[in-house]
Amino acid sequence: MKKYCITLLGMLLVSSLASASPRIIITKATLIDGINPDRPNMTMILDGDKIVSIADSQQPYSQRPTDKIIDAENKFIIPGLWDAHVHLTFIPEIDYQTYYDLFLKNGITSIRDTGAVMSKLTPAINYASNNPYATPRLFFAGPLIDGADRVYKGEEPGFPELSIGIDESSDVDQIVDNLVTQGASFLKSYEMLSRPTYLRLLDIAKQKGLRVTGHIPLSISLMDAIDAGLGGMQHIRNLELACANDAEGLQNVRTDLLTNSNNKAGSALRSQIHSLQRYSAIENFDEQRCTKIIQALARHNVFQTPTLTINTFGSQRLYSDQNWRDTYDYLPPLIKESWLAQSLALSDNSVDENALIFEDWSMKVVKLFSENNVKILAGTDTPIGFLTPGFSLHKELELLVKAGLSPREALTSATVSPAEFFNLQTQMGSLDVGKVADVLVLNKNPLEDIRHTQDINLVIAKGVLQSN
Ligand SMILES: [Zn+2]
Repeated sequence: MKKYCITLLGMLLVSSLASASPRIIITKATLIDGINPDRPNMTMILDGDKIVSIADSQQPYSQRPTDKIIDAENKFIIPGLWDAHVHLTFIPEIDYQTYYDLFLKNGITSIRDTGAVMSKLTPAINYASNNPYATPRLFFAGPLIDGADRVYKGEEPGFPELSIGIDESSDVDQIVDNLVTQGASFLKSYEMLSRPTYLRLLDIAKQKGLRVTGHIPLSISLMDAIDAGLGGMQHIRNLELACANDAEGLQNVRTDLLTNSNNKAGSALRSQIHSLQRYSAIENFDEQRCTKIIQALARHNVFQTPTLTINTFGSQRLYSDQNWRDTYDYLPPLIKESWLAQSLALSDNSVDENALIFEDWSMKVVKLFSENNVKILAGTDTPIGFLTPGFSLHKELELLVKAGLSPREALTSATVSPAEFFNLQTQMGSLDVGKVADVLVLNKNPLEDIRHTQDINLVIAKGVLQSN
């Protein structure tokens, strides 16, 4: 019974929405998704939150006086998109309604919040459940589950309170049950967890049918985490260590440092470990070894959210592009001013060589993921790194294609694969009768150029036409 709780949650999510608007009939469109062959000249009928019919446009259909008919000749329909890595509470000055508006405006009809304490996230959850037609579908993990010496505890600049800290004395069962009661549908682990506590968390999550994604704790090797049932990874973090030809030696150094003989704060200790080890690990990249690990990730269904937008923060430097900075106009005035000032100041600096090395490595690994059929989720880490909500997901799609995914694979990473992460693939993620009515009408073919996902004609979320 417990094993199926994700699916049950998903069904509730879908079926609780009664029909709130007239049927929408889109005619003469080309249908493109990550599963079906492309279907030109089709008529799609949406009724409430369901796709109820897909048929050749030459076939007649029975019309009702209240139907809204949309002629989509020469246009393309794709499923609504996901951003699978979002932090709604990271910058409290950006209110959740701004996030929701920007996601919908950009065709992002589902989001996965990957770390927020429940007391701060609750208003955003309540707003979404009270205003389902003005918000994307919201999936959340609740807090980062970190070790006793947690990183995001709200005591240092740049480290807002996003986490809880647990150790061997914690009642993990109870903590996870509480999160599920509050609506969490997956868990996010963090880097300062001790090995036994992390293994216990994975075990309890497995019993309750929850996937644990996150940062691999520094106390455990990636292969051990895979064997213990980890469900996903963010930012490709710690793969650099596992892929180094001296991975065991690096892990031993790491274990030593974690004894924390200088009593550093968790955030400082974690940063110290990464700056000591990341680039030497990348320098000692062993492709054969890495391919084996990546094949294990594929075999064990460990979903990867590479967040290339954040991994290339210092190399792609979106913030130095005037067009990108124009997206700040949609943010609250105080944030807009602050992001502009910081962006201009940073743009004056020269590109850091390590940033280029990190981009190069991230792109190479994502290509290996794609070649080895690892499940990839498009996610950004917005609003970190001046990544404007909504707009940034389209940049992630561009970067995934730049790394070596085909445009269709990039679309899959923002549609089919996130649905699979939540075991909701029978209900959403592709354009099939019976699936949810989250669809975008695009002016141009996204398979010809992934940037065409930005040329949005219409957004329909939960069967309701959004005003853009
Ligand atoms: Zn994050």
